[in-house]
This record gives sequence, structure tokens and C-alpha cells, in this order.
Amino acid sequence: MRRGVEKHRVLVLGGGNGGLSVAGRLRRHGVRDVAVVEPRDQHVFAPLQSHIAGGVARASEAVRPQADVTPRGVTWIRDAAASVDPHARTVQLRSGRKVAYEHLIVSVGLETRYDAVPGLAEAMAEKTGLSSYTFELAAKTSPVLRDFRQGTVVFVQQPEPASAAGVAQKPMYLACDWWRSRGVLDDIRVVFISPEPSAFHIPGVSAELQRKLDEYGIETRFGADLLKADPQRREVEIKRGQETETIGYDLLHAAPPQSPPDWIAESGLADPADPHGFVDVDPETLRSRRFDTVWALGDAAAVDTLRSGGAIRKQAKLLARNLISVINGEALTGHYDGYSVCPITVSRNTVVFAEFDRRGRLAPTIPGWKTLYRERRLAYFFDRRVLPWVYWHLILQGRA
Ligand SMILES: Cc1cc2nc3c(=O)[nH]c(=O)nc-3n(C[C@H](O)[C@H](O)[C@H](O)COP(=O)(O)OP(=O)(O)OC[C@H]3O[C@@H](n4cnc5c(N)ncnc54)[C@H](O)[C@@H]3O)c2cc1C
Repeated sequence: MRRGVEKHRVLVLGGGNGGLSVAGRLRRHGVRDVAVVEPRDQHVFAPLQSHIAGGVARASEAVRPQADVTPRGVTWIRDAAASVDPHARTVQLRSGRKVAYEHLIVSVGLETRYDAVPGLAEAMAEKTGLSSYTFELAAKTSPVLRDFRQGTVVFVQQPEPASAAGVAQKPMYLACDWWRSRGVLDDIRVVFISPEPSAFHIPGVSAELQRKLDEYGIETRFGADLLKADPQRREVEIKRGQETETIGYDLLHAAPPQSPPDWIAESGLADPADPHGFVDVDPETLRSRRFDTVWALGDAAAVDTLRSGGAIRKQAKLLARNLISVINGEALTGHYDGYSVCPITVSRNTVVFAEFDRRGRLAPTIPGWKTLYRERRLAYFFDRRVLPWVYWHLILQGRA
């Protein structure tokens, strides 16, 4: 150990979904001296934010103290990484402290950038600005959508890079189902703006979602980007091809633009050709293509598939296996096929559960059940009831 510099065998940056899952897994497989750098003292289960915004979960269900969810035997460093020196194998923390490592795992997620669209941050600060993508905004969204009775509501999905981009649709369907049950849906104009050419990138899943869009009478603007929001006039301006359109709103529910933290690229961990600055890993092994002792998973890694918590379950397993092989001087055997999942709640008791690989082929958890993605009550029960329990008790401990 270098004098005066704290050192860990495995240092994990980020104690969110990916960081804790992989740390827990490494500990369970006997790797000693695993430390996680995480600034927040409350851990948030982001998928529940959609349910909170859509009025089918309480905000308190999505939060637990970081100390309670950090796997036993893992050291929690309550600080934030400011930069990495991959040559010296050290991380500079924001507090000024420096920590050395033998192996580094980066899982710091994506940052939300409401300010990247003119007027959007200001729009979110108004009573009428809503989003499921931030815990506080999700909690604010719930009663506003619940009590809305007539007018125009605009929902916006953002282009990649995004955390499980399609889940921006979840609160929209939940709200429509609620308004329909109150008999007010006909008095509400719902407009869905998405940069994608259709509701989802897999035709079968897209058809299933389009059926729900039609059922609720939701107007769609596919292939559209949000140019700006004007909270004073309560308008958004969007662009489709060469055409711009201004849409007035009473409520605006928007996913924010998202990107990895800048210090990843500034530390030399990204491919300079990557405009977004993800950690440059081999998407099959999750090991850095630049530095043998650097690994990454989750939303901040160049995993070449749709970013999601479901994808992380596979990534954490594989990364831990590969890292242990390297520690033992063995060849890497694990290969990640890009499995990912996007469960879209389409009513207050059904979900379209889309599972696929990086080539866009359906990859149902129950092999052979090719239509598992179709709207189902069973999938809702799994997504809303089973998964949160599995997350808190098994996934974060590296057991699932
Ligand atoms: C609204 C919403 C709904 C979603 N719904 C679903 C769903 O239904 N199904 C699904 O599979 N996925 C869903 N996802 C995606 C899923 O939540 C993410 O893919 C997953 O949380 C990413 O894990 P991660 O470890 O990469 O990042 P995170 O879980 O975001 O964790 C990153 C951690 O890094 C910490 N951090 C940030 N900067 C630093 C730093 N400088 N130093 C140290 N630590 C730092 C953060 O505080 C955070 O704790 C959803 C996401 C959102 C936002």
C-alpha cells in the first residue's frame, strides 16, 4: 500500500442498482476488501418512481437508507468521485481524499439534464411541470395527475441516451386508466411526444402499446424532438423532420435529457469518438477496452443495449464472474448478450413486459413463452409487487 493513500482491492464508484449488485456478488464469492463510493445517504429504487407518479405507489416505498442496503462486508465511502487516474489507479474524491484500487468498477448512472432543453428546467419548477424521472418530481406528479379533470396534458419521452427510455410512458397510461375510471378521460386531451418512429423499437411490443394509445385516445407525435418549453405561455415547441409545431398544455410531464457525468470522459475512460462519454467497455465482457483494471456496468457504461435495471441483473453476474477470473489468473468466460427489459405499465393492473437482446430479438425470461410481452395482469403483479421485494432483498445483495 502506498503510504498515506487508502487502497482497496475492488473499488466501486456508485452505490445504486449496479454498484451494490456487483459489490454484493463479489463479497458473496469471497472477494475481500470491496469498497463502494456513494454520496447519497438514501437509496432510491427508480422503477417505482413511475408507479409513484402514476398514483399506484407511495413515495416512501421507493426509498431506503443507503446504510441498510449496502451489502454486509462492503465498505461504504460516503463521498463522490471527482476524477479517475487509470494509469496511477487512483480516484480523486470530491472531499479531496484520494483512494487507490487494484480493480475499479464504474456504475455511476446517468445525470438528468433538464437544463439541456431551453425552458424545461423552469417548466419543471412550476406547479404544472411533472416528471417521473426525479424522485421529488414523481412525488409531486402523483396528486396533480390524480386531481386533473379537464384540459391538455403533454407527455414527453427523450431520445437516447436514457435510462430505460420507454418507461417515460408508464405514468401516461396509468393516468389515462385513472381518468377513464373517473369518467373524465373524454375531457382530457393527451398528447404523447416521442423521438422514436413508433411506441417501441420491437414491432410486436410496439403494436401492443399502439393498441393502448388508441384505446385511451392518446394523440401521438412520433419522430419528434422537444425544442423548448415555455412555462409562461404553457407551450412546448417540437420538431418533426423540417416541421415545427407548438402545443399548448395545462400539464407537462417530461423525461429529461440524460448523459453520463463529464468526468468519465475527462478521466480518459470513454472512447474519444463517443459523443456521450460512456465508460468504454467491451459490451460482452464489461472490461474496459483501454485499461485492464477498469470495469463498468449499468447506465454509465457503453453496454450497447437499452439501459435498464433488468439488464444490470445479468451484467452484475457476468462482471463479477469475469473479474474473479482475472483475480485468479484465469481466462474470461462470461459473455453478456445484451439482455434488457422494459416493463411498461399500460393500466392500473396490466403491464407490457418487453424483454429482448441487443439485436432486438425477444428474450422472454420463461423460455419458449414468445408472447410473454403481451399486456398481462401477471406481469403487473411481478413488476409492481414482486420486483421491489426482489430488488431490496436479493438484487442489491448480489443474490439475484
Ligand atoms: C423513472 C425510471 C423508471 C425506471 N423503470 C425501470 C423499470 O421499470 N425496469 C428496469 O429494468 N429499469 C428501469 N429503470 C432503469 C433503472 O433504474 C436503471 O437502469 C438503473 O437504476 C441504473 O443503475 P446504475 O447503477 O447504472 O445507476 P443508478 O442506479 O442511477 O446508480 C448510480 C449511483 O451512482 C451515484 N453517483 C453519481 N455520481 C457519483 C460520483 N461522482 N461518485 C460516486 N457515486 C456517484 C448516484 O448517487 C447513484 O446512487 C428506470 C429508471 C428511471 C429513472
